[in-house]
Amino acid sequence: MNDDNKTIHDFDFSLICEYFSMLERQGPGSKDTTIKALGFTGNLNSGSRIADIGCGTGGQTMVLAGNAPGQITGIDLFPDFIDIFNRNAMSQGLGSRVKGIVGNMEKLPFEKEELDLIWSEGAIYNIGYERGLNEWRRYLKPGAYIAVSEASWFTAARPTEIEEFWNTAYPEIDTIPAKVRIMQDAGFIPVAAFILPDYCWTDNFYVPQAEAREVFLKKHTGNKAVVEFIESERREESLYMKYREYYGYAFYIGRKI
Ligand code: SAH
Repeated sequence: MNDDNKTIHDFDFSLICEYFSMLERQGPGSKDTTIKALGFTGNLNSGSRIADIGCGTGGQTMVLAGNAPGQITGIDLFPDFIDIFNRNAMSQGLGSRVKGIVGNMEKLPFEKEELDLIWSEGAIYNIGYERGLNEWRRYLKPGAYIAVSEASWFTAARPTEIEEFWNTAYPEIDTIPAKVRIMQDAGFIPVAAFILPDYCWTDNFYVPQAEAREVFLKKHTGNKAVVEFIESERREESLYMKYREYYGYAFYIGRKI
């Protein structure tokens, strides 16, 4: 990739995407938690229409496809992720049921009440949890489900250092009861909320990044933006290791009423 004529903003985005393309997952999660969340949904058959919004390279989408019937559309803003996604779907023999398309979660290409399930792991924060639930609801049939994972506080209070970090990174982070209430107020019956085990962050998200960081730094030797980006990733990880009692991801599953 040629970095010459790009604004800092473009460069940062492509840099982040290039880095995360090297990884199987672009956010914390696991096969088990995807299957567990799926267990709280229902009413699916081979004609069902499922959307996985902010699907990345599709780690969780392929798990969904292996455990639920229906047609799955993965949507992501970043074309390189969608290329990898579609290659993965083909190589796993899922090409007829799973398709990745480039799209924006703020302007989804679906009809009103077209979908039987909306899935989104570690991605709704890009539009904001409350806005996402309220806007995406219209695409679901009555009685259909939504399942999203979202950064959440596990306790009513927490140390200032981690509070300040998140208030800058994602001010919508909130406690689990507050997130459940928002889901209810958006017109869903809150069916379940559960915390992702911390191996979803450590073994499945940060451990694979350790090697990716070395490869990435070597590939971009001398690039200051890369060094800064990797530093910020390391800081995020060290804060997680220090404060993981206080926050993490929770899955929220709701049924449209
Ligand atoms: N669900 C995947 C990826 C999570 S990372 C996983 O759990 O591994 C968040 C994803 O949201 C990234 O792939 C990013 O490219 C995508 N994204 C960010 N803003 C978006 C938008 N406006 N519309 C669609 N996708 C978006």
